[in-house]
Amino acid sequence: MLDIDICQHARLSRDARFDGKFYTAVLTTGIFCRPVCPARPPNPENVRYYKSAELAQNSGFRPCKRCFPELAPAPLLPEKIKRLVQSYYENNNSISQCAKQQQVSERQLHRLFVQYYGLAPSEFFHQQRLLQARKLLTTTNLSMTNIAYAAGFNSVRRFNEVIKKAYTATPSEIRGKKLSQENVETQSSSTLNTKNRVTILLPYRPPFDWPLMLNFFRFRQISNIENVTDTEYCRSFILENCHGWFKVSQPLDNQNYKTKHALQLTVSMNDFSYLNQVITRVRKMFDLDADMLLIHQQLNAHPVLNTVIEQHPGLRLPGCWNIFEFSIRAILGQQISVKAATTLAQRIAEKYGGDVELTQSPYVDMSKHFPTPEQLRQVDYSDIGLTQSRIATLQRWVDFYLLTPDVFSKSASIETLEKTLTQLKGIGPWTVNYIAMRGLSDPDAFPSADLGIIKALTVNDERPNNKTILTTAQQWRPWRAYAAVYLWQSLAIDSSSSTKNSIYKHKKEK
Ligand SMILES: [Zn+2]
Repeated sequence: MLDIDICQHARLSRDARFDGKFYTAVLTTGIFCRPVCPARPPNPENVRYYKSAELAQNSGFRPCKRCFPELAPAPLLPEKIKRLVQSYYENNNSISQCAKQQQVSERQLHRLFVQYYGLAPSEFFHQQRLLQARKLLTTTNLSMTNIAYAAGFNSVRRFNEVIKKAYTATPSEIRGKKLSQENVETQSSSTLNTKNRVTILLPYRPPFDWPLMLNFFRFRQISNIENVTDTEYCRSFILENCHGWFKVSQPLDNQNYKTKHALQLTVSMNDFSYLNQVITRVRKMFDLDADMLLIHQQLNAHPVLNTVIEQHPGLRLPGCWNIFEFSIRAILGQQISVKAATTLAQRIAEKYGGDVELTQSPYVDMSKHFPTPEQLRQVDYSDIGLTQSRIATLQRWVDFYLLTPDVFSKSASIETLEKTLTQLKGIGPWTVNYIAMRGLSDPDAFPSADLGIIKALTVNDERPNNKTILTTAQQWRPWRAYAAVYLWQSLAIDSSSSTKNSIYKHKKEK
């Protein structure tokens, strides 16, 4: 699978674009490294390449203390396997529950893990827990108990045993007497009690345009829940009984190889066993696992997309924090501008959302969470400013969701999802594809009836019809969602800055 010549060239040139795509294990020292490791490169006859850190570690190698393989970006994997990993963490780290939710047999699940990670699911998650624990031990001030739960262990005792066996060192020994300043990523000058708070790096493969991503979220911000500035994204959240807030920004010192291609995530929460869920959601939200070079290769041939790629090579696919919240926002966004839809979402959040208990929140007014499906059960949406038919669609959708809460995790393809959801009056293909694109981060979803897309593909006042658009989009598969984002951006490049905010007018759904 791995091309030895490419790996060799990438590690010798310390090419950041290959970071996370493979690991170099050194036979003489027993350690494994990222391609960007600053240490002197070992001789070719002494190395072996692995496609994941989990596999390298499972083969008996230990993570390098200079380049921290546990800090590398995620490997490139199909949506299906990413969904399985996310589902595992969302189902109490249970392989059987994860298989059940994703409607695959445990045997199929096993086969997929062996195919993509070279490891059985149990081995893979075991290695992932070890790497996560090591990362938290060496780079944060989090207490041992919180690290044990955050890494996915059931008890502190088990955590101590497993770590000692794997690394022949106790957790305290791995942490060292004092965290060296270089390794502590917490760069806030705050001296607040950080017991319930952790700051970790979220690496990505360049290019990544953080200001453009922030801009997208700022324009859609629901205050009381989110706070988006020029430099950071912040929001409060609840996940079952866990509540807290998180902040994402660029590391202040982003000049070294560890922080150069990474965002910095600070999370405050009352239950750290949810940390992996938060990380997975945030990575999806800001599209940190994408390989832009691969995507650009496919989309470059189209002149409109090519112009956008040249001007904004780091433009990615903005996702969402919560799929239910996003589905409501997608329905509200039918036929109206983003600004108007955001105002409506804000009113719904204010009227029906719950309160979040926050400790040490950087923003006092970020104290609400978006209403849960239960909180929107049988509400009348009066005084929100919605039409009767839109209210009816929302009510139908919430009723349906309450009866079928696993509709998104169950639907294997956009086609299946489209078939299921368009049976509800008021929800058409545009809404389903928009939900799949931003809500599920499906890279191939494509809201072909979107007015912005039609406008971007209009040449000499000749509007393409839906069939033509879908035919053109065939060549963009499996990255049509990125094509959609680039087409929207092409309108922003074309129009003057005063009108660019009004480009996202959406198609009416019947
Ligand atoms: Zn190294």
